[in-house]
Amino acid sequence: MSAAGRKEEISDRLAENAASVELALATMKRRLSERHSISGLHTREPLLDLMTTERAGMIGAIEIADFDRLAGFNPDLAEYVLTTIVRRIVRMLPPGRFVAHVDRAQFAIWYGQDIAHDAARGEIDALIYALGSVITAGTQDIVPIISARCAALEEGGSPHTFLAQTLASFAMLRDGGAGNVDLTPAAIAREEFRYGIEQDLRGAVGRGEFELLFQPLIDATWQCVTGAEALIRWNHPERGAVSPSVFIPVVEAAGLADEVGLWVLNGAAREASQWAGIGPGPLRVAVNISANQLHSAKFTEFLARMFHNHGLEPGALEIELTESVASANDARVARMFEEIRALGVNISIDDFGTGYSSFSTLRQLGFDKIKIDREFVTEVQRRPDSQAICRSILTLGQGLGIKVLAEGVETAEEYHWLLGEGCRHFQGFYFSRPLAAADFLTFVRDTSRLADILRIAPAGREPERLTA
Ligand code: C2E
Ligand code: MG
Ligand code: MG
Repeated sequence: MSAAGRKEEISDRLAENAASVELALATMKRRLSERHSISGLHTREPLLDLMTTERAGMIGAIEIADFDRLAGFNPDLAEYVLTTIVRRIVRMLPPGRFVAHVDRAQFAIWYGQDIAHDAARGEIDALIYALGSVITAGTQDIVPIISARCAALEEGGSPHTFLAQTLASFAMLRDGGAGNVDLTPAAIAREEFRYGIEQDLRGAVGRGEFELLFQPLIDATWQCVTGAEALIRWNHPERGAVSPSVFIPVVEAAGLADEVGLWVLNGAAREASQWAGIGPGPLRVAVNISANQLHSAKFTEFLARMFHNHGLEPGALEIELTESVASANDARVARMFEEIRALGVNISIDDFGTGYSSFSTLRQLGFDKIKIDREFVTEVQRRPDSQAICRSILTLGQGLGIKVLAEGVETAEEYHWLLGEGCRHFQGFYFSRPLAAADFLTFVRDTSRLADILRIAPAGREPERLTA
């Protein structure tokens, strides 16, 4: 080839290269200008381009965890929450930080390699804190649930896979593996109700909306009150009194079991520490404990601190666990039982008869009392199936040397039938409804009133047949 020909070829190639560089730059510019239609933030594509160019570095991923739930019944409110969160993110990040809106309610902040890992983590921690604060929309206060992750893309790793895996970890946490969503109108209404309750529950402790009532526990042998079951009440400013059967499951699902549970335990211990010398014998307080509380690693540690703080004897506390919790064939449950009893605390199995537990599982656990569920106590005097169940539980108690208490006794007939079968421990509206703390003490002191309630027995069912 002549010199002139070579020159022409080189200039052609240079022109070609220049064109492809220009095209690449134009694509990058276009992609970098791609903005999310709701938030106005970068989209996933420019983020991936940047990660590909920089090859390694830190990413911080943020998710509004309950966004889909909220969007399921109130899309406008969900969008308002989303845009408020975006405003907060933008306001908090230093200028020039690259933040992308990568999915419906997920954001990613690219730190690259210029920012130290600790600094990036610190920034994400501050964001979680600030983004999770209350958002007021008209009359509604929403506390968004924010999840976040920091992860490092290693040199040679695929940005696509890395981003997908980082975001997928949110879904795993959120769904716990379950994928099916029931979308009937009734399910949506239920979800809306639950969401409202859940939102209102956050902060209910701080606003002083909870109250503890005390329902007397009766010993028919000694004709006295032996203590009380502490029962939580929620006085909601608009909904009025909300039953624990409604809100306790929401407390559990929303991860608030520790907060509410500690409030109950502390309140019950504070009250019981003032009961010394009031009853004929020591009075015990029984507290319902949820599965999540029991599984918390710090539970026994908390109990020990609580006894110390309130100057309460561990023997003055009884914890109630439902049969389904107690009978979960789980080594952790057995260990917790041992630890709790080693402290000197008593354990009762609540709602007994409803949980299909095998007696052999129960025998492996040390506990002190069985509470027959109200379902078997209601009209027991005329229901042969309930009679068979009550008799077998009473026999079981005798065999294991464990107290049996009948709960939900509402009538003299139920009480007398159970008394005749050897039941000695009772709780129910027939004796007393759950009472405010001061009224409970009045009830304990009024021994002649209790004697009256316990005395009215039909012929053949007289208390003199009782043995201690
Ligand atoms: P539970 O532990 O079996 O408590 C007994 C429930 O039966 C209480 O309902 C009590 O008011 C009610 N009751 C007592 N005697 C009678 C009666 O003669 N007739 C009728 N119809 N009901 C009677 P409450 O207070 O509505 O509590 C319902 C459930 O909520 C409790 O059942 C317990 O599982 C749960 N709960 C209550 N307070 C707490 C708490 O502080 N923490 C936890 N985790 N759960 C709690
Ligand atoms: Mg109970
Ligand atoms: Mg019960």
